[in-house]
This record gives sequence, C-alpha cells and structure tokens, in this order.
Amino acid sequence: MESVLDTSIEFLKGVGPQRANLLKSELGIFTFGDLLNYFPFRYVDRSQFLKLNQLIDQEAHVQVKGKIKEAKIVGKGRGQRLHAELIDDTGSIELVWFQGARFIKPQLELGKEFIVFGKPNNFNNKISITHPELTSPQEALLTVNSTLQPVYHSGEKLSSRGLNSRGVEKIMQSLFAKIKNDIPENISKPTREKYKLINRGQAFFNVHFPTGDEELKNARYRLKFEELFFLQLFILRQKLGRSLQSSGHIFEVVASHFNDFYNDKLPFELTGAQKKVIKQIRKDCATGKQMNRLLQGDVGSGKTIVALLNILIAIDNGFQAALMAPTEILATQHFNGLSQLLEGTSTNVAILTGSTKQKARRFLHEQLENQEIDILIGTHALIEDKVKFKNLGFVVIDEQHRFGVEQRAKLWRKNNPPPHILVMTATPIPRTLAMTVYGDLDVSVIDELPPGRKTIKTEHCFDSARLRIFGFIKKQIDLGRQVYLVYPLIQESETLDYKDLMDGYESITRAFPIPKYQVSIVHGKMKAADKEFEMQRFKKGETHILVATTVIEVGVDVPNATTMVIESAERFGLSQLHQLRGRVGRGGEQSYCVLMTGNKLSNEAKLRMSTMVRTNNGFEIADTDLKLRGPGDMMGTRQSGILEFKIADLTKDQQILLYARTAASDLLKEDPNFRKHENVLTGQSFKVYMRKKSTWSKIS
Ligand code: ADP
Ligand code: MG
Repeated sequence: MESVLDTSIEFLKGVGPQRANLLKSELGIFTFGDLLNYFPFRYVDRSQFLKLNQLIDQEAHVQVKGKIKEAKIVGKGRGQRLHAELIDDTGSIELVWFQGARFIKPQLELGKEFIVFGKPNNFNNKISITHPELTSPQEALLTVNSTLQPVYHSGEKLSSRGLNSRGVEKIMQSLFAKIKNDIPENISKPTREKYKLINRGQAFFNVHFPTGDEELKNARYRLKFEELFFLQLFILRQKLGRSLQSSGHIFEVVASHFNDFYNDKLPFELTGAQKKVIKQIRKDCATGKQMNRLLQGDVGSGKTIVALLNILIAIDNGFQAALMAPTEILATQHFNGLSQLLEGTSTNVAILTGSTKQKARRFLHEQLENQEIDILIGTHALIEDKVKFKNLGFVVIDEQHRFGVEQRAKLWRKNNPPPHILVMTATPIPRTLAMTVYGDLDVSVIDELPPGRKTIKTEHCFDSARLRIFGFIKKQIDLGRQVYLVYPLIQESETLDYKDLMDGYESITRAFPIPKYQVSIVHGKMKAADKEFEMQRFKKGETHILVATTVIEVGVDVPNATTMVIESAERFGLSQLHQLRGRVGRGGEQSYCVLMTGNKLSNEAKLRMSTMVRTNNGFEIADTDLKLRGPGDMMGTRQSGILEFKIADLTKDQQILLYARTAASDLLKEDPNFRKHENVLTGQSFKVYMRKKSTWSKIS
C-alpha cells in the first residue's frame, strides 16, 4: 500500500535534490516517513532567555536575546570569517561564522533584536557562539504556538546547506502541512485505551511541536511504546513460529547415566536454585517442542553442573550433547573438569578446538558419527559443517555474550529436529536487555550461590600503594593461597599492552623471586599448548602467581586462588571487572580483589570502581553497566542491530518495555495472524516492520 509517507524526500517543499542528497547521506532520511521519524534529541524552553552575562562555556544549547552592535568580515580567502558582537543590558558576546560569511552579513541588521540559539564556548576569556541560529522575535511568534523548541542533531555539512536544527524544524513544518491527516494509526483502540496511548498522528505532531510538557510526555510515551511494541511482536512471533514449526526431541526417561552420577559422583549437594532450574529444563525437553532457554546466574553460581546433569538426561535418552565455550582455555577447562567428574562412568567426553590436529580430528569425526562420543566439548570449531553428530540432542552454549545469533542457528541444523539449546551467560544481563536481545528465549535464573561462600572484599588502590599490595600478596602466599594478577589487553595484538604485560611480569618476578615464589604467565600470543601447560601448573598449585591478560576472564576455576589484582582497572568495563573478580571466592577461604588504577580517573571510571567496591551482586552491577555504557556497547556490536532505537531507551524505559511486551504477548495469544478487525492495521504495519528487520531475521 503506497502512502504519502513513502514519497521521496526531495519532493518536500523546501528540500530539493541537493538537500535531499545530504539528508540521505548524513541522516539516512530517504522518505517523508523517515523525516517524520527523525526525532528531536532535546527541547529548549522558548520562553526562557539567559542574560549574556550568565553564559558560561557549556555543552548544552542556550537561547539568548540581544542586538547586533557590530558585524565585520575578517581574514582573507579560506580563512575568512564573520564576527559579530551581540549585546544586551548585561554584557556582550561574540558570534562567529566560518562559513557563509558573505551570505549572512547582510542579514545582521545593526540595532535589530535577534533571538540567538547555540552552544556557548569560552575563547580567550570571551564567550562566543559559533554558527549560531538567529531568528527575529516576530518570526519566532509566527512558528508554532509552543514554548518548547525542538533541537535536532545536525552537523557541519547539513548546517552549511541551511539544515541546522532550525532548518530541520522548518522542513518538518512543511512536512506536517502536507501529511497532517495521513499518519495512520497502527495500534488497536482497546490496546490504546488499556495502556493510555494517545493517537499516532497526535503523538508525531506533539513530539516535533510540543504545545507543553504534558503533551510532550504523552507523545514520547506513545512513540516509545510503539517502537518497543513492534519489536516485541517481532521477537515473540519468531519464538511462536519456531515453537509451532519445530518439534523437539522428547527425553522420556531418566536412567543410569543421570542416576549413577547423581548418586555416586556428585561432589556436593545442589542448591535449591540449581535443582529448580534442572527441573525446568527437564520439563522443557519432554514437551515435544524444541527448547531455547537462557540460563542466567551470577559468576560462581554453579551453572556448569546444571548443564551437565541435563546433558546426562539427554544421553540417557540415546542422544549426544555438545558444550561450546568461547575460548580454548575455557573449553579445555570444561573438558578437564567434566572428564574428572565423569571418571569411572560409562559417559565418553571428547574435546575439539582450533588446535586439534588433523589426524585426531578425523578420528573424532568418525567417533562422533558412530556415537562413540557422548559429549563433545569445544570452541567455535564445533559448529563447522564438517562436524557431524549421529544424533545430537542437547547443546549448551557457555558465556553466550560472545556468540552471535548466526552461530546459534548453525547449531540448529546439526540434527533434525534440531537439538535443545541451553544458553548460559557469564554475566547477568539486566532484564530489559534480556527481553530484547534474548527475547526469543525462555529464561531461567540461578539466584543463589552455593553455601559457605564468603563475600569477596574489594579495595580500590592507586599505584602508589603497590608495595603494600605486594606485602599483602606475600601473606596470602604464606597462607598457602594463590594469586591472579591481570593486565588489560584491549586487543591481543596491541604491542603497547603487550609491553605493559611483560614489564609487569618482570617486576613481579623481581619482587617475588624464585625459588621461594613461582610465577606463571599466560597471554594471547602464546601457543594453546603452552597456555594450557601454564594454566595446569597454576591449577595444580605449582605456581603461586598467575600473571595474565584477560584470557582468564571467563570461567576459569581454581578454588585455591584467593586474590585477584587487576592492573589499570580503569581500563576495564564493569562486567569485565565483575567477571575477573569472580575468579576468586570459589573456595571456602576469604577472598580479595584489588583494583589498581592511576591517580587521574574520569568520573565514570570512579563510579565503576566505587560500584565494584560497594557490591558483589552481578545483577546490580549489570544495571549500572547498562546505565553507563548503553545497551549497544554492553552487548557488543554483534547484537547491536536489534538495539538501535529511534526514541526508546532501554536504560530508562524499562516500565514501557514491560507494558509493550505484555501487550504484544496478549495480542499474539488472542490473534496471532492479525485477523480481527481491530488488529488489521497493526498487522499491516507489522509486515512493513518485518521487511525492514529482515536482515536480522535471516540470521536468527
Ligand atoms: P559458573 O556459574 O560461574 O559457571 P561454576 O559452574 O564454574 O560457576 O561453579 C563454580 C564453582 O562452584 C565450581 O567450583 C563448582 O564445582 C562449585 N559448585 C557448583 N555448585 C555447587 C554447590 N551446589 N555446592 C558447592 N559447590 C558448588
Ligand atoms: Mg561458567
């Protein structure tokens, strides 16, 4: 259905081909509809004018009123610019244009009053505004009858073509003159009534030309709701489609693999939370539908054993299982750990990583296809097409945040029907994020740590405290404990970071000399076998200190290690710090985490440090992290496509997201194909929405 909103932007009055090209290349605005969805990022109260002597160097836009006292063009050729002096009864400021001087100067009538809008900065003790936007008070009165002035993101290129914030506002006005009555509703009346949503046309108008605070609030609420609602429809419908389509293997029995292990080998009593989650998964795997479940649990909450017990049920039912980890170290550790746990049982475990030799690999492939292997543990190498199972029934993906949706899909195709999939996250994810990024998964939470764990004591120190910290480390080693010392390595190839690490290693070996002290080092440039050798030495207690880069970030388990020292801690994000800290506190001993930083810290870095010192709770840390970094950064670029919002903000709009999710889920329950009269418009909009999201859906 063609609508006026699909009209190409160059046909809008006041735009034309040249500006249209800029709008396309700079802002991705191709059609009337795109422009309509280009929202102001803030609003300035038009009724408020600052006095010129109140201005300070600042980031935000301000509005002032004054008269032009003088305007002159200075400089020659390319350096030419326009300087004007603006005065009011309190003082004066300078207005500067680097572009369009000749064009603007004639408009600066001396003695005439202007409303000036822009960002003040302080240069040579004089406040100036560069490329300000000027209107006369009369002109301002003629525009919409509102006190709230929208501010749109613009840029150098756009401004030079008259498309600064005011310019965008002007073409927005001509847009509304054209389409006023052509903005179709796309949420049904009952839903609008239930969630108190104003109508769509009204919302768009008010978000661009708010007549007051209340109107603006209602408009933004409606549009945020709409954005999240369609995303949730999309996610939930995929989930629904999948559960209708794909039948799953049915695990009917619990037999000897599970029972023998549970009765004879389980080294500890499971926590209530672990039992609860094992049951949830067991139930999922008996329905005949394929399971896609996300398991969240804080670091050290014991997710591995939960995975293993469910794997054993799969094996009891004649299936194979796979466990995939993001790094070779972690895969190897899982392999060693599970092999040890399963020693003396009839369950066969194997490992496959990038460094598995060709010959071994071929043998492994054979064994997999003969089902001589019950559990295959490995890295990305697992999902290669060459790796074929006889009968894969259950897949565990550990530390999911490093995997993309594509990889999940590849695992799916390894059997028909596809295996059940359990995704385990290393770091808790705020609920709002989980509902979007993993919105198509069911969620289980382990909200209880194994008994006897002591809270890790965390301290933030400046580099000057190094000697004291070394003394502390010595005491811990005297008590028979072990210590991690971690250096940031943002990219494993960064030579500078690498040098830091080697320098650090050297100074550690000087401060902790052999033979009394043994120090290991592990980093990304080492061969897998060497890494493994060093890890094993540390694990066996043969070395006291492990100097490492973030390769140990995820999942390493050495219960005797009680102290984690993080160098240049300000360079790590919160979730990474929490992960690293989670490497200690795994045994019964009191554990410690020391965050070493330089003296000069940004406010954000200070907040990260104080958050770490204040709490051990992963969910609380994840929430702060989300607020600090925003959802895109937090999840990594892979998933960021789904996290790009025009108006909604996951860090602030949690409540709206909950409403939108409920509304979407209720609608799909009642009328999954949008057949009811009242849902027809929603259905049509949804089709368009799906087309736009299709790149994402292809991989999912
Ligand atoms: P994570 O959830 O971070 O992956 P792990 O599965 O590695 O945690 O478990 C952390 C440690 O806690 C391991 O040493 C594991 O053996 C131990 N553990 C797990 N569950 C329990 C339990 N119920 N009681 C005691 N120790 C447990
Ligand atoms: Mg783990």
